Amino acid sequence: MTPEDALERVVHLLDRAHASAFKAKAFLRARDVVRETDQAELSQLAAAGKLTELEGIGDSSARVITEALSGDIPAYLSKLEAETALAITPEGQRYRDALRGDCHLHSTWSDGGAPIEAMAAAAQTLGHEYMVLTDHSARLTIAHGLDRERLTTQLDDIAELNAQFDGFRILTGMEVDIFEDGSLDLADDLLERLDVVVASVHSKLRMDRQHMTERMVVAAANPHVDILGHCTGRLIGKRPPSVFDADYVFAACAQFGTAVEINCRPERLDPPRELIDVALGFDCWFSIDTDAHATGQLEWQPYGCDRAAQCAVPIDKVINTMAADDLLAWTAGA
Ligand SMILES: [Zn+2]
Ligand SMILES: [Zn+2]
Repeated sequence: MTPEDALERVVHLLDRAHASAFKAKAFLRARDVVRETDQAELSQLAAAGKLTELEGIGDSSARVITEALSGDIPAYLSKLEAETALAITPEGQRYRDALRGDCHLHSTWSDGGAPIEAMAAAAQTLGHEYMVLTDHSARLTIAHGLDRERLTTQLDDIAELNAQFDGFRILTGMEVDIFEDGSLDLADDLLERLDVVVASVHSKLRMDRQHMTERMVVAAANPHVDILGHCTGRLIGKRPPSVFDADYVFAACAQFGTAVEINCRPERLDPPRELIDVALGFDCWFSIDTDAHATGQLEWQPYGCDRAAQCAVPIDKVINTMAADDLLAWTAGA
């Protein structure tokens, strides 16, 4: 294992554990320094115990580099592998086994921490057949949302990247903001071009019940929208769920073929169980998505799978159990 691979794996595992972004960033910085440093120089510094003289290498990363250079699996890495392994119930595992891809994730194009190719490589390693890249739309400036020009460039990049992967596909998409009137933060011609569109509320989450209901019904009924992302917007312990009439919203999802996302992020776990029950009453489609912002977070599917199992979501109503071509036929038709 090279020092670069070891540091990259450390970052992956810290993200899998949802550790502080600060910690992961420090190891990512160390990985970059290792990349830019002459390998002979790196070995000399390691042998002399002087790696920390390099700007961006701290005590912990120096130890990882030194151990990797001497041919060992770094102790810190082994510790993280064991401590950050994700648990899943046997019932949840049935869902996880059925999933063929992930329909909601981000890259460095918006607010993600890893480039598209790293996300794709990690998704493929997890056994996925595809992933849908859904960076943010322009309105979310805080997350470097993509405007028309950048999205168009990204679509070209994805076409090129797809040529490099064997047995894996990057599907195009976007997590498009739902404006206050239910319209979307992307022009129709681009919505039309994308393979999968996730629509989410990111602003004015405290709208009154009636207006929030109208807003979400209009979005769910939009023929371009395939998935309604993290519908309540809650952040567990930090932000309450937004308030809307779930009967109307999920009836619209069922009627217009918009899947209800089961968002796997541990701080979201959105929708809450009682709302999944409401959606089940309308025979809605679902999508179990990680909303990953780093490679390690692609491993979060168990959180959503356990939740789907607890609520007895029919596996054949989960759209990302479909093969890519079937999913594309579904999004084109629904
Ligand atoms: Zn979102
Ligand atoms: Zn997202």
